[in-house]
Amino acid sequence: MDTRIGFGWDSHAFTPGVPLRIGGMTLDHPQGLAGHSDGDVLLHAVTDALLGAVAAGDIGSFFPPGDPRWKNADSSIFIKLALEELEHAGYRISNVDTTLILAAPKIAPVAGEMRARVADLLGVEIGQVSIKAKTPEGLNLDGVAQCHAVAIVERAGDHDEVKSMSAVIESQRQLEDVVEDLLSSVHGVRRKRVAPVYDTGDIT
Ligand SMILES: [Zn+2]
Repeated sequence: MDTRIGFGWDSHAFTPGVPLRIGGMTLDHPQGLAGHSDGDVLLHAVTDALLGAVAAGDIGSFFPPGDPRWKNADSSIFIKLALEELEHAGYRISNVDTTLILAAPKIAPVAGEMRARVADLLGVEIGQVSIKAKTPEGLNLDGVAQCHAVAIVERAGDHDEVKSMSAVIESQRQLEDVVEDLLSSVHGVRRKRVAPVYDTGDIT
């Protein structure tokens, strides 16, 4: 199977007066994350992991921070762009794993909902998305939220090919069964199926 891996990292400083957006959700917290967009540190890290997996650059090369069009933008548009790049390269997501590093708020109580939200944005099952969180012990970075993300992607189509191949094999078998039934109705006895001899000499 043709798989590739991508890694992404991002950080934003906490600042009062803006909503806290993480994983496509608005969390109840007195401070939000400062940024040109909505500051969604998790979606930015995931975007970079996906772009990195297919060597398509990074979030900054597509959305320069100074561009007024992306001011306060909902970060789901970055994810959409990354998914387009992924599809263009012929890959799809196998799984995404993330680790948030922030002093507060606690992520564990909302991690399930956040996984569902991110899986929805990525168009995958919740089981393909992992969201973990740690506090920045000993880093003296309580005013900052960071996120690390890795993504495994697999070449799209392989699976479908195998599926259609097995469908052909299945219909072939059904055809054989029909023929056998016909033969047995003619001959009165069900013919014994003879397993084909596996001739290793045929393999070149
Ligand atoms: Zn960011």
